[in-house]
Amino acid sequence: MSLLSRELPPTAGLPLQARDFLPGGGDLCAILAEQLGTPPLQLTCSGTHALLIALRTLRRRAPHRDTVILPAYTCPLVPIAVHSLGLRIQLCDTRRDHFDFDPVALHAAADARTLAIIPTHLGGRLADVDRACAIAHRVGAWVIEDAAQALGARVAGNSVGLRGDIGFFSLAAGKGLSLHEGGLLLTHDEALRTAMIEQAAGHTPFSLRWELIRSLQLLGLAACYRPSLLSLVYGNPLRRALRSGDLEAAVGDVFPLDIPQHRVSRWRQNVGARAAQRLPDFLQAARLRALQLRVQLESLPAVDVVDGMPGTQGTWPMLMLLLPSERARDKALSALWQRGLGVSRMFIHALPDYAYLRGIVADADVPNARDFAARCLTVGNSPWLTHADTREIVKVLARK
Ligand SMILES: *Cc1c(COP(=O)(O)O)cnc(C)c1O
Repeated sequence: MSLLSRELPPTAGLPLQARDFLPGGGDLCAILAEQLGTPPLQLTCSGTHALLIALRTLRRRAPHRDTVILPAYTCPLVPIAVHSLGLRIQLCDTRRDHFDFDPVALHAAADARTLAIIPTHLGGRLADVDRACAIAHRVGAWVIEDAAQALGARVAGNSVGLRGDIGFFSLAAGKGLSLHEGGLLLTHDEALRTAMIEQAAGHTPFSLRWELIRSLQLLGLAACYRPSLLSLVYGNPLRRALRSGDLEAAVGDVFPLDIPQHRVSRWRQNVGARAAQRLPDFLQAARLRALQLRVQLESLPAVDVVDGMPGTQGTWPMLMLLLPSERARDKALSALWQRGLGVSRMFIHALPDYAYLRGIVADADVPNARDFAARCLTVGNSPWLTHADTREIVKVLARK
């Protein structure tokens, strides 16, 4: 591969434009709250920071509850955040062929020590939040909806993040709308909202150093998030990591254990506010592309497209596919991962299988989560994916 070959991203992030950097974009939170029809949103410096604020707030209400229940297949930042607050992590296996909780296992896991249950929407596909709520509320716990990968998704016309007690979105690079790093908290409960705003105020200093870093990263993202330059910042490092066998680095699963907590400058909010004006049209176009792509992929005998709760309207940053075996998945990836077509993997492992998390996540018997990790691959649904690209991908996945 040459240094600058064409490269598609693994997820559909909203591309920034030069004019997003002009002053006077408006109020990011107000624009998004209006688009999504939510109560006021609270801006944080990352999705993980939002989760920290949510957990601290709940802990103050129930200091005797010390356990957080997570799906065994989720972003490593989630257990890192829980652990950093001194809370106990309890993994719950997923249901077969899925990323959402196994309901029987979740029922068995929740008890008087449970502070929160975190149902998680992955790849824009929606988890069953109502069931998590029924199980949590029965034991007096709360539900925090991890909607980091689902900004813009709806259930019965309402934004995700509101069916649970608290929800959060991520504005990280590659997750739809991006400030390079950012997050949003939401809740339908006014008392919780007030408490979370107070909680954040006490813990969130302005950091010139972090703001400079994030601002430069955001400029870099705006410049390079296009097929002609993405190999520089994404494709070439990916291929390097794959050549050295470091799969976790290849998909960006290795995070620092120390979570930055700082304010987001007006300037970055302004960039996000301008870009946010294009978000509804961008999500709609992605939905139309994804539905076509899904029809093609589902016609392949060896491919299952992972779906969310029936009747929900998710977003489509990518399509998650399950192949019949780990061997079949790895064979397909060996032909596709390095090709610049946006084919990749979601998280590499179930949470107990990350060596670097060993001091944080105890081993657990989670066969379904491990199986999901072993058979899953993703097809990025970026606006640059052409029919010719899709044909290449389908050709490989159709092979026996
Ligand atoms: C990315 C992600 C997070 C963390 O969000 P950041 O903004 O990167 O801190 C949490 N949960 C899931 C499922 C994610 O994909």
